[in-house]
Amino acid sequence: MVGVRRSDLFLPATRETPGSGSNAAKLLVRAGLIRNFGSGLWAVTPAGQRVREKLTERVVAAMDAIGGQRVRLPGLQYADRWRESGRWGGFEDEMFTLENRDGQAMCLAPSHEEGVVHLLDGRVRSHADLPLLVYQVESKFRDDHARNGLVRTKEFTMQDAYSVDVDEPGLRETYREVRAAYERVLDDVGLEYAIVEADAGVMGGAASEEFVAPVSDAGGDSDRLVHCTADGCRFGVTDEHDGSDAHATGDACPECGGDLAASDGIEVAHVFKLGTRYSEAMGFTVDTGDGSERRVEMGSYGLGVDRLLQTLAQQHGDSDSLAWPVTGWGSAAPYRAAVIPVGEDSEVLNVAERIHNDCGRDDVLLYDDLSVGERFAESDLLGIPATVVVGNTYRENGVVDVETETGTEELAVEAVAECVERFAASEGEHRVGSGATD
Ligand SMILES: [Zn+2]
Repeated sequence: MVGVRRSDLFLPATRETPGSGSNAAKLLVRAGLIRNFGSGLWAVTPAGQRVREKLTERVVAAMDAIGGQRVRLPGLQYADRWRESGRWGGFEDEMFTLENRDGQAMCLAPSHEEGVVHLLDGRVRSHADLPLLVYQVESKFRDDHARNGLVRTKEFTMQDAYSVDVDEPGLRETYREVRAAYERVLDDVGLEYAIVEADAGVMGGAASEEFVAPVSDAGGDSDRLVHCTADGCRFGVTDEHDGSDAHATGDACPECGGDLAASDGIEVAHVFKLGTRYSEAMGFTVDTGDGSERRVEMGSYGLGVDRLLQTLAQQHGDSDSLAWPVTGWGSAAPYRAAVIPVGEDSEVLNVAERIHNDCGRDDVLLYDDLSVGERFAESDLLGIPATVVVGNTYRENGVVDVETETGTEELAVEAVAECVERFAASEGEHRVGSGATD
């Protein structure tokens, strides 16, 4: 496997920062993880893509663990299904529409409820085929007012899931499972969040809840969150929902009695009980086994991957550097470690190479380029959780300095790989202790 050498890496770090957005949005640009393509559009660089992949793999594992099946639906769609559902031309004026060469109306899909009905209708015919949970991780397009870097954009990556059940109790159970899966994902990646009742808005349906992350600065975005600060309590309300003015900083949490705090909030995920909103409008039924037909009960669930990336950065780090939380799952940082040789002599360079090989080369950045000062500054800016320094300590004592969030320790060269292992992102479902929580 080709390792990550700084001399080979395309990392377009820059001193220029965008004029608006939160500090974290600016740091993502400065560190070279993302690059702006005009209002509301962002490219992701190799280092940024690594963070995105780690988060994507975590949410994919969570969906697979509850029986989700991954699909891919077209992002470009004809108008007919949207007319059936009644959402064509609506979507709060955020739908991108166009005409193809034959004059047919099309859109760039802002969500995929219609697409899922299209995929399943006529192929899923019997109650025995249900329940069914399908999901994808693809682009969504909405002509939103662009704000705050990756948080509010015109094209964004979402993990979106859709459930089909034969009846309401079935939907309630599936909804509970997906909601719990999202909790496990957000707990694992180290996000602080509240779960708030929300309006169904353009999705329609009976009930919905949002996962909202408290941040000190939403970068000009307006959600106001009052949430419980007690460990493990997820109570919160936002100003988008009735009753939010009944709670304020310093009040007692109605669920656990803990302290409430007010802050800006960023919605990172949203779960909807759609009920028969789409099956009724689009005629999606299954046979019930006793000769009759029944409209299916649907749910839809979305977690914004790019938005999660930036929100993690907003909750951690400081004014000068990115930082990524380290949990029992690991870390979403672009690399688990940076290896920084101090000096150009072959003794130091050979040991740096050896550590690079030992530690999992594709996830460890070897600084074989830039000045020594620039190496430290850049790995700090990127928020790489471990810095392995090969220099004077090695020349004098044959050990290296490993700097992490807990301080600096001297380690034998062969002990470094195990030490930095905990900063890698775990594969699959991570469980705290031996007992599964669900
Ligand atoms: Zn509470």
